[in-house]
Amino acid sequence: MHLQFQREREREMENGKCNGGTAARSPVIKFTKLFINGNFCDAVSGKTFETVDPRNEEVIAMIAEGDKEDVDLAVKAARFAFDHGPWPRMTGSERARLMHRFADLIDQNIEELAFLDAVDAGKLFETGKIMDIPAVSGRLRYYAGAADKIHGEVLKMTRPSLFGYTLKEPIGVVGIITPWNFPSIIFAMKVVPALAAGCTMVVKPAEQTPLSALFYAHLANQAGIPDGVINVVTGFGPTVGAAISSHMDIDKVSFTGSTEVGRKIMQAAAASNLKDVSLELGGKSPLLIFDDADIDKAVDLALLGNFYNKGEVCVASSRVFVQEGVYNSLVKKLVEKAKDWTVGDTFDPTARQGPQVGRRQFEKILSYIDQGKREGATLLCGGNAIGDKGYYIEPTIFVDVTEDMKIYQDEIFGPVMSLMKFKTVEEGIEMANNTRYGLAAGIVSKNIDLVNRVSRSIRAGAIWVNCYYGFDVDCPFGGYKMSGVGQDSGLEALHSYLHVKSVVTPLHNSPWL
Ligand code: NAD
Repeated sequence: MHLQFQREREREMENGKCNGGTAARSPVIKFTKLFINGNFCDAVSGKTFETVDPRNEEVIAMIAEGDKEDVDLAVKAARFAFDHGPWPRMTGSERARLMHRFADLIDQNIEELAFLDAVDAGKLFETGKIMDIPAVSGRLRYYAGAADKIHGEVLKMTRPSLFGYTLKEPIGVVGIITPWNFPSIIFAMKVVPALAAGCTMVVKPAEQTPLSALFYAHLANQAGIPDGVINVVTGFGPTVGAAISSHMDIDKVSFTGSTEVGRKIMQAAAASNLKDVSLELGGKSPLLIFDDADIDKAVDLALLGNFYNKGEVCVASSRVFVQEGVYNSLVKKLVEKAKDWTVGDTFDPTARQGPQVGRRQFEKILSYIDQGKREGATLLCGGNAIGDKGYYIEPTIFVDVTEDMKIYQDEIFGPVMSLMKFKTVEEGIEMANNTRYGLAAGIVSKNIDLVNRVSRSIRAGAIWVNCYYGFDVDCPFGGYKMSGVGQDSGLEALHSYLHVKSVVTPLHNSPWL
């Protein structure tokens, strides 16, 4: 593993010869202000904060630093748009038409959006172009297709004198709080179904990665989505995030982030207006590799499950359990292949792993690696920072990890894999479930009976068999245990932005109705 961020390649990019292309050469940041009621504006306080490029630790732009007063203004705009504006009153197909237009504009700006996430979050530019940004426009088209199919049902009442039916109505003003690891996809996972449902919203992107959310707000505006429907307030968690979670005029908060902050949001919702809350939280997901597994495939999945997006993935398979019959051969292959997992600049098309998002995360990961060594785990490979500029860390693998160690229990959120051996199927299941989290799990085996049994025994919201990261917009995604409440994706997500109202009327004159 080696850092490929060489001067030569930088020069190639400057000359437009390598795939960094046009976007890499034109780092123009167009939107840095809050977006409220269809306009970009300064924060009431006039304050700004820095957003930093994790490749080189340089400031990319100064961003408006919102606070409680700005959240109040954004909620006022969203409330007005919900209570009096056209968006919730349009037909589903009218909303769908504007959502398709929004999707088309995203497709026309893929390079620029992928560029923003690459410099803000350290995400690979090529991956952004082919996966993250198309996933946003794809999600708009999926939910646009559902926007005109939202309907209640006629009820079969037990009392024959009554006629009853249900209406599905948008839940109202939604507060959306997102993390920094997938700035585009997680923005879309929440904003898009809420749009289709007819809600209006106030979005707070993570302070580390505010750039793409502001660009999406601009594109939504260009597409004709009415003023006040999407508002973006950039700033910090304890100010902007806390003001959203405790706001009396917000009807639901949809949050993705750490379990610790999720708990605060639930408490704030309970202490204010008992708003609906959905939480997508942390994870410490297991990948179970059984004796009959295809070893090459298992090795590839373990690497992908841990080092994709530099391990900054809520569902990363950071605990890999290997059955004893294949343990030695798998470890050997894993170490060989991990050495080829290239770390490099986000614009380098040969890099498979970019820099960690920021200094705090970088230091946190390195301190977990130190702790793993101190607690007695054996470092098989990696374990160090790379270079003296930027937040690059080697893909790291520990063996001899035991259940009491912090690296086994805590979410590290970096390129750090822990490998454990198990004997029987029961033991593997028990070890996999020994965590406070329950977000996802992977199973590698050719035995269908075994796969069925293990899939049903793991307490996690997503099970991926002979694959990893089996995400799809049609596939509901949500955690068990302390990994969350509620679901993103699929029609479940759309329904989470809808209220069910029942309407009852008598069929005949009744003395008491
Ligand atoms: P974080 O919880 O620190 O921050 C997430 C968001 O919450 C940010 O926008 C932040 O500003 C805001 N926030 C912070 N304090 C707040 C407060 N008191 N009130 C309201 N909002 C507040 O998480 P992070 O470091 O940005 O992201 C990493 C975490 O997110 C990891 O735990 C990861 O597992 C989780 N995550 C989960 C999923 C999922 O789908 N389950 C997806 C991605 C990330």
